[in-house]
Amino acid sequence: MRRVYMDHSATTPVRAEVAEEMYKYIIDNFGNPTSLHSFGRQVRNAVEEARENVAASIGAKTNEIVFTSGGTESDNMAIHGVAHANKNKGNHIITSAVEHHAVINTVKALGKEGFTITIIPVDKHGVVDPDDVANAITEKTILVTIMHANNEVGTIQPIQEISKITREHGVIFHTDAVQSFGKIPVNVDDLGVDLLTISGHKIYAPKGIGALYIRKGTRWKQSLFHGGSQERLRRAGTENVAGIVALGKACRLATDDLESEARHISQLRDRLIEEVTSNISYVNITGHPTRRIPGHASFCFQYIEGESMLLSLDMKGIAASSGSACTSGSLEPSHVLLSMGIPHEVAHGSIRLTLGRDNTEEDIDYFMEVMQPIVERLRAMSPLDQETEFQMNSECEACKVSSSCRA
Ligand SMILES: *Cc1c(COP(=O)(O)O)cnc(C)c1O
Repeated sequence: MRRVYMDHSATTPVRAEVAEEMYKYIIDNFGNPTSLHSFGRQVRNAVEEARENVAASIGAKTNEIVFTSGGTESDNMAIHGVAHANKNKGNHIITSAVEHHAVINTVKALGKEGFTITIIPVDKHGVVDPDDVANAITEKTILVTIMHANNEVGTIQPIQEISKITREHGVIFHTDAVQSFGKIPVNVDDLGVDLLTISGHKIYAPKGIGALYIRKGTRWKQSLFHGGSQERLRRAGTENVAGIVALGKACRLATDDLESEARHISQLRDRLIEEVTSNISYVNITGHPTRRIPGHASFCFQYIEGESMLLSLDMKGIAASSGSACTSGSLEPSHVLLSMGIPHEVAHGSIRLTLGRDNTEEDIDYFMEVMQPIVERLRAMSPLDQETEFQMNSECEACKVSSSCRA
């Protein structure tokens, strides 16, 4: 059976060039970078070269990069580190309603510790209004954390406009750039951010490696691990050398291939969206129509459960996801879709298709061939089926909250 992977926002395969580079640091160059002998020194050089590659790919200086175990750790480290280092200045943290759980749950944990939290709402496309951030800032605000691009709906946030505001108020600004990095230009000075998160396994490096950018001069305190003095006292523990080398390589490849890859996956994505919306009825695109990352298509199919679609697609060899990988399996629809004002029953029919460098036109053909009968079959079985020619009226308030509204 044909197998088609359309879930690159969940994870990507490791590129062959990246795996080859890694391999050298598993078998032959196995030294501990802290060791003073030649085995150690060799590996130390590789780690520092990887740091240069990561730094260059986001316009940072090498000593502003800390290697971590991934996006989740970087987000935790950024938020905890700023919160605890700036307690004497204030206790107020601002975030958005559509963040990844690595940010939301970290901020919530700080809320339990006594920090005050403001969650900025989003519009129907999932966009944060910078004026809302400006209005939320108080004398006590120490941190704003708002993601660059959303994992579930692909929406790109106005990070530059937000950073102008945080700068004016002298507030530290962190962004989770896990989904944008490698797909659109990410430069810490252009964006104006003080901390930035990236993750290896979303850019064709392995799982379990990531980095945190911390702008020089940012008040931040190591607070997660107690241990050795690795990473200039910012992250204790023997370095994940093979992962670090892989991340460095993946960053370089991502920068080199950025334009051609973005063009390729945007073209496929545009065709996918066009075909889905013109050949299947009762489908809405979720997220922003244009301000979205390349390769990212997300929809709500009315009168169908997202999970049923996923299972049916999986039986045909197609990998997709509904909402985010972390929320699938739970019955609650995604917090991202709900915060965009999408009614519960519509949000239940969400599906995300995220394309990568190996996807082809034939993959889109195959998806359409398989998807149309799946939708027909599931809708015929659905208790929510619209046999009575029910059509959702976008002007009707009752329709927005209940699929049984017949207005
Ligand atoms: C995947 C993801 C993370 C988590 O990264 P891990 O390396 O899997 O811990 C954080 N934020 C966003 C936006 C993501 O998509």
